[in-house]
Amino acid sequence: MLDLTTARQLMVDSQLRARGISDPRVLDAMLRVPRHEFVPHHYRAQAYEDHPLPIGDGQTISQPYIVALMLESLQLAPDEVVLEIGTGSGYATALLAELAAQVFSIERHDALAASARNVLAALGYANVQVFTGDGTLGLRAGAPFDAILVSAAAPDLPPTLLAQLRDPGRMIIPVGPPDSQQLQFIRMVNGQPLISLRELVRFVPLVPNPG
Ligand code: SAH
Repeated sequence: MLDLTTARQLMVDSQLRARGISDPRVLDAMLRVPRHEFVPHHYRAQAYEDHPLPIGDGQTISQPYIVALMLESLQLAPDEVVLEIGTGSGYATALLAELAAQVFSIERHDALAASARNVLAALGYANVQVFTGDGTLGLRAGAPFDAILVSAAAPDLPPTLLAQLRDPGRMIIPVGPPDSQQLQFIRMVNGQPLISLRELVRFVPLVPNPG
């Protein structure tokens, strides 16, 4: 079996570079972050394969390529503040922490949020805060954000999140019904959201908490 560092290098070359991911900061971050630390123990050997994996509570860690696409679209600068909705395993959170100055992340499942917090702390990410709550409401206290990354599928663009985006700012979010969505890239310019439609994707749903 390949050692995990070699597997990660291969992931970056064959799944990311070979498919057109070219942003050196994104590629470097994906080379650095140990994805295997974010998956359940019995999936470690599969951590660098080209697909999502179950992480508990019926949720999944996204396919590496999709994470890279979303990160590349945001073009993060090292001094920026980012909001992530759907922490899940915390893998994308770690990548955001490598690329930006400060990351706020919201997860609705308590157990996932707790586990992500533990892994992120163990890996030494001090510029990350994980909140348990309903991400559709965003995080008013931290707004406005230079960039927002949503990694659960919204039926429509959530207006509350748009309102928390800095002007200018960028957001990437899968939008559509549960079985198939399209990534939407939003650039806020002069108070207007400019929307471009990107790849077709399949994410778990963004579930607003009741009440
Ligand atoms: N980036 C994560 C993806 C996790 S899947 C990773 O790579 O591990 C999407 C996550 O969104 C799930 O953990 C799910 O529980 C969470 N989620 C769904 N609806 C949410 C909501 N309203 N607020 C916050 N998190 C939500």
